[in-house]
Amino acid sequence: MKILVINAGSSSLKYQLIDMETESVMAKGLCERIGIDGHLKHSPLVGGKPVFNEDIALPTHAEAIAAVIDKLTSAEYGVVGSMKEIDAVGHRVVHGGEKFASSVLITDEVMKALEECTPFAPLHNPANIIGINACRDVMGDVPMVAVFDTAFQQTMPGKAYMYAIPYEYYQNDGIRRYGFHGTSHRYVSGRCAELMGKPIEELKIVSCHMGNGSSIAAIDGGKCVDTSMGFTPLVGLPMGTRCGDLDAGVIQFIMNKYGISIDEMLNILNKKSGVLGVSGVSSDFRDLDEAAEKGNDRAQLALDMFHYWVAKVAGSYVAAMNGVDAIVFTAGVGENSKSSRKAISEYFGYLGVTIDDEANSKRGEDIMISTPDSKVKVFVIPTNEELVIARDTKDIVG
Ligand code: AMP
Repeated sequence: MKILVINAGSSSLKYQLIDMETESVMAKGLCERIGIDGHLKHSPLVGGKPVFNEDIALPTHAEAIAAVIDKLTSAEYGVVGSMKEIDAVGHRVVHGGEKFASSVLITDEVMKALEECTPFAPLHNPANIIGINACRDVMGDVPMVAVFDTAFQQTMPGKAYMYAIPYEYYQNDGIRRYGFHGTSHRYVSGRCAELMGKPIEELKIVSCHMGNGSSIAAIDGGKCVDTSMGFTPLVGLPMGTRCGDLDAGVIQFIMNKYGISIDEMLNILNKKSGVLGVSGVSSDFRDLDEAAEKGNDRAQLALDMFHYWVAKVAGSYVAAMNGVDAIVFTAGVGENSKSSRKAISEYFGYLGVTIDDEANSKRGEDIMISTPDSKVKVFVIPTNEELVIARDTKDIVG
């Protein structure tokens, strides 16, 4: 079975074609500047075909999907003979609200329900829906599945997902903590259980997804019981450019003092805050490490804040689960920054965590970075959201 995984953004579309016999990626690529001019980078990973990396006209997502299918099936760049060899499509969808606690086969009814979730993710869901519609137009009756960033966290209990504001806002408007990065937390916690050789039902895991956007999840017996992102992906940890947790009074104070609108304020909190805002240097942790090494105090402060927050939130989840067996680091920073992993792990001394510096220096593979006698195991597990989407699609269509 071959499954096409699609992640559609407002002007971009990422894809992978995965052979489910071996769970290996046959080709992957990225359409960019959709609706502006258009660029496609298509990389075949089997058959020794060349990479296609050129500007092409992509006025809408439909042309982007058509171009992807064209490249996947072309004699020069293709990895399959025709579209008929693509058995199903899995789509990443950011927000499934409370309607979707698991992945689902896409039908007209599901499309309607997805539209109803749009107010929760006004920047992301419309792009996901456009991607699905374009795919349905171009690929006809190939079965398609929606996989949600929010579904894994639907197991959280009310005490974790409720905000302490008047109950009507939850009842009437669905305002609650939803959480994001669900497919990533699900993948790495499952993989962690495999690496530990234990059923996930017997494990308490803290999963730290640390990338440009960052979130932590508490996973007890394979079920998510708490997570740091909320109604939107703005809160929790300080991130690349997002502020993380913030006193709502600060928003009122800044808006009143500087006479700015709520849209401008949210733009500041989403795009100009986080480690970028504190350091004034960059949202990229590589730049922060370099600046801090050269003595930039604000870059060091931004890093210290990030490490402190990861440790503080992770620690609160140890309390929430009444224990922890393993801590997992994943995503851009989690997979690549040994200095961040080391700095965060130093806060976990009270848990009996000790880090093996040699293991912590390795990159690009699943690895236990704690010493064999460490009471709590610490892992680096490269995330693979596409594989989760493909597996769910296979299970549902299969
Ligand atoms: P992601 O959102 O998961 O793609 O992560 C992207 C982020 O990972 C970048 O913005 C960097 O801050 C971070 N990153 C990538 N490589 C490294 C590295 N070698 N050291 C530190 N941070 C890294």
